[in-house]
Amino acid sequence: MNKKSIVWIRDDFRLNRNSSLAYATKNHEFVSAIFIYNKIEYDNIREAQKWWLSKSLDCFQLDLKKFNINLEILSGDELKIFSNIKKKDDISLYWNRVYEPKEIKKEKILINYLEKNNINFKFFKGNLLNEFQEVKKDDGTPFKVFTPFWKRAEKIYLDKVPMKISKIKKLNTSLCFFDKKISSTEILPKKKWFEKFSKYWDPSENKGIKKLEFLLNNKIEYYGERRDFPNIDGTSKISPYLKHGQTSVEEIWDRCNQIKIKGKGYRKYINELGWREFSHSLINNFPEMLKGNLRKEFDKFPWVNNIKFLTAWKKGMTGYPIVDAGMRELYETGWMHNRVRMIVASFLVKHLRIHWKEGEKYFRNCLLDFNEANNVAQWQWVAGCGADAAPYFRIFNPILQGEKFDKKGEYTKKWVPELKKIPVEYVHKPWELEKEIQENIKLIIGKDYPFPIVNHEKARNEALEAFQSLKKK
Ligand SMILES: Cc1cc2nc3c(=O)[nH]c(=O)nc-3n(C[C@H](O)[C@H](O)[C@H](O)COP(=O)(O)OP(=O)(O)OC[C@H]3O[C@@H](n4cnc5c(N)ncnc54)[C@H](O)[C@@H]3O)c2cc1C
Repeated sequence: MNKKSIVWIRDDFRLNRNSSLAYATKNHEFVSAIFIYNKIEYDNIREAQKWWLSKSLDCFQLDLKKFNINLEILSGDELKIFSNIKKKDDISLYWNRVYEPKEIKKEKILINYLEKNNINFKFFKGNLLNEFQEVKKDDGTPFKVFTPFWKRAEKIYLDKVPMKISKIKKLNTSLCFFDKKISSTEILPKKKWFEKFSKYWDPSENKGIKKLEFLLNNKIEYYGERRDFPNIDGTSKISPYLKHGQTSVEEIWDRCNQIKIKGKGYRKYINELGWREFSHSLINNFPEMLKGNLRKEFDKFPWVNNIKFLTAWKKGMTGYPIVDAGMRELYETGWMHNRVRMIVASFLVKHLRIHWKEGEKYFRNCLLDFNEANNVAQWQWVAGCGADAAPYFRIFNPILQGEKFDKKGEYTKKWVPELKKIPVEYVHKPWELEKEIQENIKLIIGKDYPFPIVNHEKARNEALEAFQSLKKK
């Protein structure tokens, strides 16, 4: 084996259970880790994640230094950069897989180049429990329904002989392979909006581990009962760590399985990891859903083009407090509670009848945990046009959703502070508050907080009509 190797880092900013890094340090004297920042995949598309990425790079650079490994940050097109590696350089290349169709396409072209040029390489399973091709129905076709998918996927994973976890070895000397590098700060978004994220997040492997510990010690037992209430810190908030690979899904699985008495909370939590596996299976088996509806009958849906409504939704100014709270939480923290994601998404595609792609695009830009699989699959799930989706005719009432899942309005008041003084019974329908009380608490609806931009009943009926029209054509 040659002396030098490169490990291509993408969504795997971790030392623990990092197969490609462990393999490289075991088999080579010199290892350099490289991250290639492909600007066109981020600019104005994934602005929030630029912050997470930049911080993750800083942190991982320090972590790797302890092992005498440099993390070199390059900028440009991955395939162009790799095409500079020649046989005479005597370098091996390693990476962990990323399960997105465009990444898999890149990987194929890269493999072709490496094979043609006799360059040694090896790739390893990425941050999923199973390779997506492994989970198929008996007839060899991919699943479109979650429950049988997850039953099969869990069995396949459990039947595998557990892999020995290889650890990264400390090297004697570090080496840099590239001249033209960029600094992590060059990745940060131009708009200073990101600065507040550091109040809420620490994008490091260490913090990911702490989140997992906290989940296991304090949250998982009651996860089933608490996960739907946004005013309770009842979910793991591990999603951005999972997306960027600071936390390994196999580690979460193993640690959850070490729980001695496995209650309902455990089962519920594991199932959520199942939805993540399912979404990845969907986008890879049906990559056309990244561009449009999985259920083709929705191609005829009469979506509405309304910039004013779309802007009100993005800004959290729809006049429906639970919707506005969610949208403001997203903008402030780069994350939104799952129940509220469902409510705001439903409001956009059903009450406003704006295309789910608009919502998907906005989430992509603002979410720190954005991942193509979960985002597209979940938006289509809410819109009714995806796999195993919520039926379109089941339309969330934003008032009742608020009253059910944020009964005392604590979450809503936190993110919509204009409503701080409103009596609890009006927090989810402030427009019904008597004029006199509005004046007393200095909250004039229409001035300090908007009237609802659409009437719930009317919007609901129009959405149902639009849905019915699909059947007529
Ligand atoms: C419209 C919409 C868009 C979404 N976009 C994304 C996205 O871009 N990235 C993302 O990671 N999740 C997305 N989700 C799923 C879900 O809201 C988040 O995964 C969850 O809120 C993350 O918080 P948590 O880590 O505390 O979750 P927990 O409840 O603690 O769940 C643990 C993990 O399971 C996975 N998970 C949980 N719920 C789901 C789900 N419904 N589908 C798939 N995986 C799930 C996540 O990886 C999560 O980190 C979206 C949901 C909706 C309704």
